Amino acid sequence: MQNTLRKVFGFRQFRPNQESVVRAILEKRDVLAVMPTGGGKSLCYQLPAVLLPGTCMVISPLIALMKDQVDGARSNGIRAAFLNSSQSSDERDEVMHNLLSNSLDLLYVAPERFILSHFRETLSRVQLSMAVIDEAHCISEWGHDFRPDYLSLSDLVTLFPHTPVAAFTATATHRVQQDILDRLALRNPLIVRASFDRPNLIYDVCFKDNADAQMVALLKSNPGKAGIIYRTSRKSVSDTAAMLQAKGFRALPYHAGLSDTERKRNQEAFIRDEADVIVATIAFGMGIDKSNIRFVIHADLPKSIENYYQETGRAGRDGEPAECTLLFTQGDIPKLRFFIDSMVDETERARALGALSKVITFASSSVCRRKTLLDYFGESYSRQNCGSCDICLGTRELVDCTLQAQMVLSAMVRTEERFGAIHIVDIVTGSQNKKILDFGHDHLKTYGVGKGHDKKYWRRLIDELLAQQVIKKSEGLYPTLFLLPKAGRILKHEERIDMVRVLDKKKGQPHPIESDAPYDSQLFELLRSLRKQLADEQGIPPYVVFSDRTLHDMAAHLPRTAEAMLAVSGVGEIKLERYGRQFLRLIDRYGSDHSNQKS
Ligand code: ADP
Ligand code: ZN
Repeated sequence: MQNTLRKVFGFRQFRPNQESVVRAILEKRDVLAVMPTGGGKSLCYQLPAVLLPGTCMVISPLIALMKDQVDGARSNGIRAAFLNSSQSSDERDEVMHNLLSNSLDLLYVAPERFILSHFRETLSRVQLSMAVIDEAHCISEWGHDFRPDYLSLSDLVTLFPHTPVAAFTATATHRVQQDILDRLALRNPLIVRASFDRPNLIYDVCFKDNADAQMVALLKSNPGKAGIIYRTSRKSVSDTAAMLQAKGFRALPYHAGLSDTERKRNQEAFIRDEADVIVATIAFGMGIDKSNIRFVIHADLPKSIENYYQETGRAGRDGEPAECTLLFTQGDIPKLRFFIDSMVDETERARALGALSKVITFASSSVCRRKTLLDYFGESYSRQNCGSCDICLGTRELVDCTLQAQMVLSAMVRTEERFGAIHIVDIVTGSQNKKILDFGHDHLKTYGVGKGHDKKYWRRLIDELLAQQVIKKSEGLYPTLFLLPKAGRILKHEERIDMVRVLDKKKGQPHPIESDAPYDSQLFELLRSLRKQLADEQGIPPYVVFSDRTLHDMAAHLPRTAEAMLAVSGVGEIKLERYGRQFLRLIDRYGSDHSNQKS
């Protein structure tokens, strides 16, 4: 096992749980492995597939991903192929031929092929080392992407009584886990459930006051890095992508309203490092394996904690640090509520409301984000300070803002609770706009009393009053603010109110991860362009050639010999043979240029 891990995959150590899963499969035992994205699931079956005689059949719902998965396995010298509807019949015949002549370690197929009787007939004539069910939550109706085709997979254990079945999923809920076990009828399976903590992800929730400017700032602080921006509506996706393009960013939109060709083209450009940023609705993400996504921005509130976890989880699969930023304001809630209220199905509506209120709590509380996420999946996080979320990193203080709250509340009272947040802010800051003048609100006693603070301050304060249930927003698309009982007590000086002030928000630094040696960023960029060039020559995504982790390792240790190159994480024997020479030459040249410059 260790030998194969090193020689084929180029890794020195197993990640948590990989070893026990590999061992169980080698002992012909069924497995259910629940591991987070980036946990290293593919190695769990690819390694035994290399060691065991026969072919490992992987059932995967994502046809679009199969080619990348096969390219990835092949890049390590594993004999892999896929069968699906995107191939010509000649291509399929060739794969069948290889399958029947026992010259495949791995075969990826879609569930709809597994149903076909002639395919099952072929399978009965080949030696199957094991059957793998990838994205196993697709068999559960509780899973977020249920696939009716997956139900046929319950036949596996009866069709292949002596072949181990291994199911993998990154969906963390216990209900889905139990459903997978029941439906597949696994035989005394080894069940592993990895921690869902993603230590290399840095979580940050920011008060959303000007989403466009905030997104631009975030992109500027991540130049040339790959990232996803999630938005709720198709229109906001298109607008944001256009805004970013106009500012010179390599950004592309992705949503269900685009044509198939355009969606595919944009996704492909992102995967191949030709676009840095994809602006997307939640339609994006399932079909990508790209390991070097360095940031995810939620410019709107996600639908549920589960969604937030899955969407942010697409960052940093390679284990390198990645930033997850959520832009949040209470002001976004009415729009979401309005949408949910228009749902016809009552149970759906109740479920959506429940999920929304949990995300709101997540975003507005001052509890460690990591702890809240893990709590949600029933996992307790024991550290006091995670060291990589805005709550744990920020120095905060509570500031008494009773006086300012009274100004807002009294402006609301004097306008009979008939206006929304923007207008109230305009009153206290003394705006001269038409609506103010038309209503004569420039004559109010509270007009302009809050000039000492900018509008952003007042919007934050209103957010805080909403969060602390001092005031409430009416339903509907144009909500107005009204007072709750607590407001009366604040106005009468019977109660005070504090607002959290973030003093200095340090940049997140994730806790120590596999390798965190400082690396030469100039060399890293050169290695990155060489990777891109080689990937293009072979028509494969850059991250399949080498991961960001591997390039960082090279830029930290500057390997000069084949042996030193093999010690780099992610360089196995086949990759050394294929790419070693070019990377060594680049590092060598860079090294001598640098020593010349220094002397
Ligand atoms: P998952 O399918 O669970 O999301 P992957 O199988 O795509 O995860 O693996 C994520 C990344 O981790 C890949 O870049 C892979 O090469 C890397 N990886 C897997 N196992 C190890 C290991 N033992 N050591 C270092 N890197 C690993
Ligand atoms: Zn924290």
